[in-house]
Amino acid sequence: MNVTQTFPGTSCNQCNFKVAEVLDGCPSCGSESTEKVDLKQNGIIHSFTIVYVGFGHMTDRAPYVLAIVQTEENVKLTTVVEDVTNFESVKIGDKVRFKNLDPKIGPIFQY
Ligand SMILES: [Zn+2]
Repeated sequence: MNVTQTFPGTSCNQCNFKVAEVLDGCPSCGSESTEKVDLKQNGIIHSFTIVYVGFGHMTDRAPYVLAIVQTEENVKLTTVVEDVTNFESVKIGDKVRFKNLDPKIGPIFQY
């Protein structure tokens, strides 16, 4: 398995806001002075929900864990956590790490 150590994000040169997406402008202050950064792969589950009925391209994935993951850089992103065998065991504060970039979903995380 090819595990990447970082995943792409954007950092604003104006207000220092960071997002886990590659964007041309800052979603916080509107500045166009942004740069691409590599975010570290480690994060924790800030909040999560178990999705039992998926829609669209997520239909075949359900049930799955949809989580807000906070990275080491304090960037929060909504993501799917894969490789969860027991949904009962998922807790806020659990350590997760970046797994791969999905072309439709974006960064995917795993335990
Ligand atoms: Zn900004």
